[in-house]
Formats: sequence, C-alpha cells, structure tokens
Amino acid sequence: MAHHDESEKAPTDQYEFGDPTTRYPNIHPEVQQQPEPGLQSLMTPTPDLGETSYRGTGRLAGRKALITGADSGIGAAVAIAFAREGADVTLSYLPEEEPDARHVIEQIEAAGRRAVAVPGDLMDPEHCRSLVQQAVDGMGGLDAIVNVAGKQVWQKSILDITDEQFDQTFKTNVYAPFWIIKAALPHLKPGSTIVNTASLEAYVPAPDRLDYATTKGAINNFSKGLAQQLVSQGIRVNVVAPGPTWSVLQVTGGVDPETLPEFGSSESPMGRAGQPAEIAPAYVFLTSAESSFVAGDTLNVNGGMVTP
Ligand code: NAD
Ligand code: MG
Repeated sequence: MAHHDESEKAPTDQYEFGDPTTRYPNIHPEVQQQPEPGLQSLMTPTPDLGETSYRGTGRLAGRKALITGADSGIGAAVAIAFAREGADVTLSYLPEEEPDARHVIEQIEAAGRRAVAVPGDLMDPEHCRSLVQQAVDGMGGLDAIVNVAGKQVWQKSILDITDEQFDQTFKTNVYAPFWIIKAALPHLKPGSTIVNTASLEAYVPAPDRLDYATTKGAINNFSKGLAQQLVSQGIRVNVVAPGPTWSVLQVTGGVDPETLPEFGSSESPMGRAGQPAEIAPAYVFLTSAESSFVAGDTLNVNGGMVTP
C-alpha cells in the first residue's frame, strides 16, 4: 500500500473523483489527551467536518432535524451537511462544548438555515424530553431525529470498568435515544426519519471497550425492531455504523493513548482512519426521501471492513 503523509491535502469538493485510499491523509496523530468530553478545536490534527468540501444539492430542503452530539466529530459533520442540504438543525451537546458548537452554528447559519442550540446532559431523561420540545418550538416542527452522541472509555479489563462508567455509557448511548425517540414520536408525521449510530464494534467488539461495544450492539438491535414497529406509520428507522474515524472521542479516553499514532491505519483495508466528513453523507442518504425503500438497515461506513 502506498504511504500517505500528513502534508497531503483533503479534497475541496465532495464530488471530486479520485482514489479513496489517498483521498484523505493517513494521519499519525501524536499522543494527546483531554478530559471528557473534550474540544475538537484543541486536537492535532483537527478532524475534517466537510467545512470546505461538502456541497449540498437540496436533498433535505425544508426538513427539521434534531442532531445529538452535533458540536464535534460525526454529529457536527452531519449538522453541516444537513444545513447545506437545506435543513434547519437543533444541536444537542454538553455545555462545556460550547466553543465547538459555535463553530458548527456559524456554518449552519452561513448556509442560510436555522440553528437551535440546546446544551444539556442526555443522561437526564428530563433533559431529553425538554430537548425534543425545544427542537419543536425552535424549528416550528420536527421530522428527522439523528442520534449521534456517544460515550466511549477504554479499560483493559472488565475489573477496571466501574459500575458508574457502565451505567453512564448505557445512559448516553442507549437510554438517551430511547428517551428522545419516545418524546419525539407524537411530533413525527409520515415521511419522518430516525437515524441512530452504531459502530463496527457492534460486530467486532474491541476487548478493551466491552461496555461501549455492548451498547452499539444494542443500538443496532433496538433500531431494527423499532423500524419494523414504525414502518407502517411511514417513519423509517435506520443506522449508520462508522469504523475508525478521527474525532475527539478518541483523545478523551476512547482508546489507549499509546495507540493514537497508528489510529485506524492498521485496522482498515483503506490503510487510514476516516474523517467525519466521510461519514456524514450516509446520514444524509438515510434521512432524505431518496432512501424511501430503506428501513431497518445499517449502513456501514468503515473503510472496507467486512460486517455480517
Ligand atoms: P465526538 O466526541 O466528537 O462526539 C460525541 C458527542 O457525544 C460529543 O460531542 C458530545 O456532545 C456527545 N455526548 C457525550 N456524552 C453526552 C451527554 N451525557 N450529554 C450530551 N451529549 C453527550 O466523537 P465522534 O467520534 O464523532 O462520536 C459520534 C458517534 O459516533 C458516537 O456515537 C460514537 O460512538 C460513534 N462512532 C464513532 C467512531 C469513531 O471512530 N470516531 C466509530 C464508530 C462509532
Ligand atoms: Mg464534542
């Protein structure tokens, strides 16, 4: 495989034709660490959210989307893509992530769309319900739910996973989407969509991410069952399962810091980690009416790793 170095430039247009293995640089991040949830703006290198490359073509014109984890990483790239496709966006994130959120809000507003900022803790069911209400009030309706927020903390042994960590990982990754979808359902008319976020870990659990990988299996299963329940109401539920993607999750205890210099490059057949900008189009597809016959599916965006 060809060697790519960090001086290579990312594309300036998402439709640029070229070799996917060299489309983005094969990064070798230095060992770096921040307390959770971290700020993506302090990372080296900074993840690519598609700021300079995502070109919208009206695929989500007039849609009203609630996106969790919308301040950074995959959720932020989804928020920017959605706005450029013509959607208004309600952004959920933690209060300490305000600086990252401001960057995304600027991008949404520059696209001429409405951004409704709702900072708060998704581990609190009351906040999840209030988030949905603020989305409905702020955007004048709601027809797309995108659950991207997630917690991932690596631990070598099951003996190192505290009950508190196990509980918080499940609250963030599994309970919050449950609370949000329950509160949102009465507002969703036929044509509305729900997209949840699993992971390659749902099928290939890393031994040092037991609790996290278990939640991702649960999200896949929950989504497929719910899809069958809601399809007759004209509401489609689908899942995106990313593979190794460069984001602040990785440098806030998500993976063993010593492994950061090789992040993604040994695991993926592409020989490199993905960028959030490469994951976002999957969410656009599953939210747009062009995927009208797709329900209960998981779209794997992982650089070519084989999944069941
Ligand atoms: P990220 O850190 O940029 O995004 C995660 C977001 O979750 C944070 O920005 C934060 O706003 C939100 N969050 C966490 N706890 C919260 C809480 N208690 N209340 C409110 N918000 C909370 O990292 P990312 O990699 O973009 O992660 C996005 C999603 O993608 C996650 O669900 C993650 O599991 C999934 N994923 C990531 C990868 C990867 O390699 N990065 C791979 C597979 C799946
Ligand atoms: Mg963040």
